[in-house]
Amino acid sequence: MSDRIMVVEDEQAIRAVIEFALTDAGFEVVSVGRGDEALAVIGAQHIDLVILDLMLPGVDGLEVCRQIRAERMTPIIILSARSEELDKVLGLELGADDYVTKPFSPRELVSRVRANLRRMRSEPERGQVMEAGDLEIDPVARTVVRAGEEIYLTFSEFEILHKLASSPRRVFTREELMNHLWEGSFFGDLRSVDVHVRHLRQKVEVDAANPELIRTVRGVGYAFGADVTRT
Ligand code: CA
Repeated sequence: MSDRIMVVEDEQAIRAVIEFALTDAGFEVVSVGRGDEALAVIGAQHIDLVILDLMLPGVDGLEVCRQIRAERMTPIIILSARSEELDKVLGLELGADDYVTKPFSPRELVSRVRANLRRMRSEPERGQVMEAGDLEIDPVARTVVRAGEEIYLTFSEFEILHKLASSPRRVFTREELMNHLWEGSFFGDLRSVDVHVRHLRQKVEVDAANPELIRTVRGVGYAFGADVTRT
């Protein structure tokens, strides 16, 4: 059975291009042009992944994203004309999984759809619980606890934290981190690493302005700055 993708886009020409590319790649496509229609569809039928434009009539894309995420973990790829929206899109409240900036190539979009579906279905990584100070990272349960309190991280934030903490003090480049997130199939905007790291710091650092866990290594990338013990 093929995966069913919902395309939410009010510009008919763009919608037609996306529909064609996805159908051609073997996906089943449901497309709508309004935010309220998107919410009605996802409430009524099974959808494996959502491609969501932000500027929509009815209910806007950010609100559609928030409402879908409040109830389900369906992967959401945001389509955005402006890269400044990146910050909002990748933010903790919204919980979108990925974004594609317009204009985009249909091929790129299809490969992002595949990567998102694959990573949603991949088995959680087996491994030992890692401790750094009062921070506890459990790769099996995919939870992060600080001083006994659970911290909610997005998929990407967890993966970046876990990757860095797995090799304390080793410097990872942005490319390495994105390729880890995308299982080698990443292409696109490396600035999204910085956005994820900024959000991550706000959640796990004692003082996000003076990060001690996730260190910036100028001109290179990021490194985990604390000792890690495994239990
Ligand atoms: Ca639009």
